[in-house]
Amino acid sequence: LFEVHEGKAKVLVPKAKTIYDSPVFYNPRMAPNRDVVVLLLNVLKPKIVLDALSATGIRGIRFALETPAEEIWMNDINELAYELMKKNVLLNFKGTLKENAKRAIFEGEKTIVINNDDANRLMAEKHRYFHFIDLDPFGSPMEFLDTALRSVKRKGILGVTATDGAPLCGAHPKACLRKYLAVPLRGELCHEVGTRILVGVIARYAAKYDLGMEVLLAYYKDHYFRAFVKLKDGAKKGDETLENLGYVYFDEKTGRFEVEKSFLSTRPNAYGPLWLGPLKNEKVVGEMLELLVSGFEVANYREVLKLLHMLHEELDIPLFYDTHALGKRLKIEPKKLGEIIKELKSMGYEATRTHFSPTGIKTNAPYEVFVEVMRKN
Ligand code: SAM
Repeated sequence: LFEVHEGKAKVLVPKAKTIYDSPVFYNPRMAPNRDVVVLLLNVLKPKIVLDALSATGIRGIRFALETPAEEIWMNDINELAYELMKKNVLLNFKGTLKENAKRAIFEGEKTIVINNDDANRLMAEKHRYFHFIDLDPFGSPMEFLDTALRSVKRKGILGVTATDGAPLCGAHPKACLRKYLAVPLRGELCHEVGTRILVGVIARYAAKYDLGMEVLLAYYKDHYFRAFVKLKDGAKKGDETLENLGYVYFDEKTGRFEVEKSFLSTRPNAYGPLWLGPLKNEKVVGEMLELLVSGFEVANYREVLKLLHMLHEELDIPLFYDTHALGKRLKIEPKKLGEIIKELKSMGYEATRTHFSPTGIKTNAPYEVFVEVMRKN
């Protein structure tokens, strides 16, 4: 074992050739993912939180040390992870653990529960108990989504990470159909479409419990998709939420796209269903950014600042034009993004960069106008 420091936490991690050989998983490159959720929990202040798939416990321990959460649950099905989590909690907090069966409880300034079980069984046991649940699995979160929607309070918050880029990005469309019940789109829009497929399936799963939801923040980074949603209680909220679902129509030759809000697609060759509503709550993201800029300590300040700043500025409408992909399709030499954005703005349109692609522009300008601006010297 060796000691790793991240944020205010320190954890023991098994020595291994690569992170995937380790008997208990720890990926330092996911520190910004944990930074962002720590910031969110400081803005929204949920009291009882669950890190359902904890591995070393780094995420839950950071929740305990760096957020106002009062009761923190961590869980892993792997017994080695459970043993390590207990060590890691005692490395960060002075005191003793009371252990019974496969659950150890730390009572101090904060209550920390360390659990060794299948996440679905734990979440089924704790029905409508948590104010916040974070799902951070290997690959797809779908195996845990339904139970999480029953274990979280009816106005609670759910955080979901998906690392299965191949299905969500359209490299394995059948896997996307099986897991996410949606048709993915390959190509330059795949990261945004994947993000919206993930959000869309959460909305559809929530609806049967008479729950609606609002997206607090959803984004793509370093090969993973991330979504935070806040549930809204009631059948009417569920109905309203489903109105944000729809489809994308995409023309391979020209790169032109259209979106359609509708529960069923009305034309052939539709991609989706997916979420066509907002991908952020401006106020929440603004407060996260403010917190960060005002000196709140995270593990990766620069990287998280860059991401949150980008997300905060980004025009919150579905899809974008990728200047490189469009340039290739239409045989136009791509211009600098800044110039195109400036030109579009001077014509009265809104336009910003997008975190989904370094060469993409989100704009409310129609396709023809965008192409014309791209062609202009
Ligand atoms: N959240 C951790 C972090 O931020 O470092 C990483 C979690 S790792 C990606 C996924 C973990 O889920 C593994 O430790 C694995 O043992 C655990 N796991 C897999 N299936 C599980 C299940 N059904 N119930 C509980 N834990 C499970």
